[in-house]
Amino acid sequence: MRLVLLGAPGVGKGVQGYLISKEYDIPKISTGDILRQEISENTRLGRKAINFIEKGELVPDEVINKIVEARLKKDDCKKGFLLDGYPRTIPQAEFLLNFLSDEGLKLDAVLNIKLDDSTITNRLSNRRICSKCGKDFNLAVNPPPEDGICPVCGGKIYQREDDRIEVIEERLKVYRSNTKPLVDFFREKGKLFEVDGNGSISEVHKNFVSIINKIKDDI
Ligand code: AMP
Repeated sequence: MRLVLLGAPGVGKGVQGYLISKEYDIPKISTGDILRQEISENTRLGRKAINFIEKGELVPDEVINKIVEARLKKDDCKKGFLLDGYPRTIPQAEFLLNFLSDEGLKLDAVLNIKLDDSTITNRLSNRRICSKCGKDFNLAVNPPPEDGICPVCGGKIYQREDDRIEVIEERLKVYRSNTKPLVDFFREKGKLFEVDGNGSISEVHKNFVSIINKIKDDI
């Protein structure tokens, strides 16, 4: 299965992507995670990306496309993949489709998670993350332990710089102008499937599984 997870920041792409990647045994590729890793290692790419990320802006298409191309060429992607947070612009989507067609491959489905803006803002501003294993916490519904240490791996739990309210608003603006047009772009190509992002993690996951199983049957 070659899948794309689409949706505004905070709709649950990370956690749902993780569950899908386990269920179907395909790697989850998050461009945001790759960039944060580069930043934490203080690489050249990381030093370039941080200026965009901290303002909630998009890293330039050519930079992101190169990262994704190199990642998709790795062996583990032969069995399929799930992209989380990519593509985010029409030129990125075109790059992806061209890359796949050059490799003789096709995208199976684009899964768009829908959620209203106030729920998104609420989730993002309450979100806390383990710096080591990436586990998500939420101050309102799933608060992290008081000592700020991840119960799964012992990593330090923190708030992403870009989950501050000023940056969230910018990210949503960027989403509406650059990424939302991808919904129609993929719908016109007959690739789009919509999933309601409301509900518990396991309810949303169940919806995903039934949609993906249907798509699998049709491949
Ligand atoms: P995410 O973890 O997916 O919310 O990504 C965090 C930030 O990384 C975004 O706000 C962008 O600054 C940058 N980023 C991640 N993926 C992309 C992409 N496909 N295109 C451009 N910028 C990206």
